[in-house]
Formats: sequence, C-alpha cells, structure tokens
Amino acid sequence: MRGICRLCGANADLVRSHIIPKFVFSWIKETSATGKLRPGDNPNKRIQDGPSFPLYCRKCEESFSTYENYFARNIFYPHMEGKFKEIVCSDELERFMVGLFWRILDYCSSDFVKLKPGCSIPHSNAHREWRDYLLGKTSTHKSELHLSLLTDGTFTSIDESKLLWYFHRGTDAEIYSSGPGEIIIYCKMPKMILFSSIFPSRPGDFLGTRVSKGSVIEKESAIFNSGFVRFIRSRVDIINQGEASAERKKVVLKSIRADPKRFRKSETMKYLSKEFERHARGDKTHRPRRKQSKQE
Ligand SMILES: [Zn+2]
Repeated sequence: MRGICRLCGANADLVRSHIIPKFVFSWIKETSATGKLRPGDNPNKRIQDGPSFPLYCRKCEESFSTYENYFARNIFYPHMEGKFKEIVCSDELERFMVGLFWRILDYCSSDFVKLKPGCSIPHSNAHREWRDYLLGKTSTHKSELHLSLLTDGTFTSIDESKLLWYFHRGTDAEIYSSGPGEIIIYCKMPKMILFSSIFPSRPGDFLGTRVSKGSVIEKESAIFNSGFVRFIRSRVDIINQGEASAERKKVVLKSIRADPKRFRKSETMKYLSKEFERHARGDKTHRPRRKQSKQE
C-alpha cells in the first residue's frame, strides 16, 4: 500500500507494523497452554498475532526492528527465562523505548486529544521531539523513560482478580492522564511495564525504574504513585470484564487433554500455580473478588 510514512513523511510503500513488537505475541503463543493467542478482554476471540497497521516505510520499520531485536535479545527473553538480574541502561534501550512510545503516542493521538484537549500542546511537543530524536535530527529528548520488571510483590495495594494474569501474560498500550495536564505513555508486556511521563516531566513515587544511559534497573522496583496504581487497577478491571464462554472453556480443556505435557510446562500453568499458592496462603492482599477463569 502506497502512502505517507507517519515517521519520516516520505511517500512510499508502507509495510505492516506492530505497535507492541511481534516477538511479544510470539512468546505468549509459544508459552501458552494451547498454543493459541486470545485477547484478555475478549477471550472468546482467537487471533493469529498482535495488531499491525500499514503506517511506516520499510526504512523506518527496519530502524524500529533494529532496536526491537536488541531489546528482545538482551532484556525481554532473558527476563522471561528468569535469567536476568539487572539492566544496565544503554543507548539501544533508550532508542527502543522512544520508538515504542512514539508509535503509541502517534497511533492513539486523535482519541486522546479529543478526550483531553488541555493536553494537546505538551502532547504535540513530545510527538515532534521524539520523532526528531528517532530520525537522528536531535540527540536528546526531555521525557523521562521508565521500566519496571514485575514481581508478585509489585503493586501490593491492588487486589483485583486476574492481577497475576495481567502481570504474567497481559499486553496493553495506552496514553493516560489521571490529573490536570498529565500525560503518561504506557506499555505492558509480560512481566514488565514500560512508561514515559511527558508531563510532569519528573513524576514522583517511582523507585528503581528510571532509564538513562548508565543507570541500573534492578529486578525489584517500587511504584507508589497513586494515580499510576489507580490506572493499573482500571486496566485489570477491563480484563475482568472479558469472561470466557462455556463453549470456549470446553475448547481449552480439550486442547489441554490432547497435550497435557505442553500444559504442565507452559507459562499459563506457572501463573495458575502462583494464583493457587496465593490463595492457599490466604494472601488477603491479592484475594480475588470475582470468579477466576482460565485464559489459555
Ligand atoms: Zn519512513
């Protein structure tokens, strides 16, 4: 498809691009109990892959891919395999994160600005500044970047059902604002959260999550920011509204019976075991408020 590339502005053949990188969805599929992919807010719908759209020319897409490959190889897969202890932040990590946040900012822009017209100026400033950074026109940008590797102890104040499912298996991307003028770009991947605060540019109550060249991201981070915690709770609530149908549950059970070894080794099983342990301990912090349903 011919069109104008959203990043560089060239009139070119546009290739299909993922907002959240494709390797994330591939990992979820590979490690699921059934080998199938279904959205958390609509578990009755089967999808092949994460959403993708013809937005960028090949050159810009290849530039995104270079840093996605760096992130997948050095951070995502080691963390998924439990081999990871800390991240020493690099230029490549920063480039990956700005590319990810710029795509979310660009893709979700029109809805966000309609809902929050008071945020349009900082929003368009960040959009321009990040685009110039990605195109190599500037070497710096003003927004803080944050990465939190999730553990079962992160967000201890949230007690929503399916919190662990959202942590371990969920993907999500959104621009959110919980206060006047606030703009946070948010991306959820399995076992990690990535976000950037456009305004305020120095958000408080995040410990051990700041990404800047040479800084270290520890495995245990702490997030006390009350607006952010409320936002996470609202995202888990969306997942809770998507209940699997009886027919869907039968299909899942049939898949598990057909390949019980796959189910035992799957990340889905690990997540269900953690849920079970939590209830067996009588952990009131995360007590589910609604009936649980298997997602995969
Ligand atoms: Zn381009």
